Amino acid sequence: MTTLAIDLGGTKLAAALIDAQRRVLEQQTLPTPAGRTQAALTDALSALVAPFAGRAQRVAVASTGIIRHGVLTALNPDNLGGLAQFPLTQTLARLTGLPCLAVNDAQAAAWAEYCALPAGVSDMVFITVSTGVGGGIICNGKLLSGKEGLAGHIGHTLADPHGPRCGCGRTGCVEAIASGRGIAALATDDLQGMTAKAIFAQAQNGHPQAMSLIRQSAKTIARLIADIRAGYDCQYAVLGGSVGLAPGYLDLVTAYLAQEPAVYHTTITAARYQHDAGLLGAALLAEEQAL
Ligand code: ADP
Repeated sequence: MTTLAIDLGGTKLAAALIDAQRRVLEQQTLPTPAGRTQAALTDALSALVAPFAGRAQRVAVASTGIIRHGVLTALNPDNLGGLAQFPLTQTLARLTGLPCLAVNDAQAAAWAEYCALPAGVSDMVFITVSTGVGGGIICNGKLLSGKEGLAGHIGHTLADPHGPRCGCGRTGCVEAIASGRGIAALATDDLQGMTAKAIFAQAQNGHPQAMSLIRQSAKTIARLIADIRAGYDCQYAVLGGSVGLAPGYLDLVTAYLAQEPAVYHTTITAARYQHDAGLLGAALLAEEQAL
């Protein structure tokens, strides 16, 4: 069976055909619409799936936000141009005429990455550092999604009570400091208005403020990993997202975690499936649920 997998992020939308051998056959990406309306997102999804019409038997979506009964509720609406609610499975089922499953993107990616870890690992956390910071928790070999879909939203745990206000309504969340959007929002002077990607490029050229913002992000993620280790003794932390996968970032997180007491040290790896982890995880979950 071929799955049309869709990844809905704060910066980009991706769609891919995934075959029964879990190979990504073909993929296209589009920017996430900046507009605040459901119509803008529906139009973007329509353009995203159009090239794949008639070529898949089911749709599997990995999306930022809380997914409850197929409806997307953005915990941080800033990540979706202010859009707080969206009927995700209903819209995609209508656009494609296919059955549709939707899960949180980091939960989906966690499942794909967990399935690729060595046998014997039962507890791991996947952290995506992207437009926001998302997480997926595997505990005792099971993916935690929570009764209300909130499980794993570790980007909204506290990093600094005096930190910046987060789009979720709290103050000092990990996401407000460490995410791509957070890095960009904290930039001042000549870095003001730049994307995280541009700030990373500046850091490569030795720009002191750019380097400091990226170090602050990596340190915040390292502390988050230590907190999660303390929370449930996970054996692995797997990093994904364009910030998490940026050259040098994983080494920084590893170095900061090494500064914490040894009991919190955890093996950190880059996502084996890189930017496709969410797409593959959603397809795997749809397959397991015999959608
Ligand atoms: P999404 O959040 O839509 O899943 P990404 O994982 O690509 O998308 O994350 C987008 C964030 O990553 C943006 O803040 C962007 O500026 C930043 N980014 C994109 N490419 C890079 C890169 N090569 N290095 C560092 N940051 C990047």
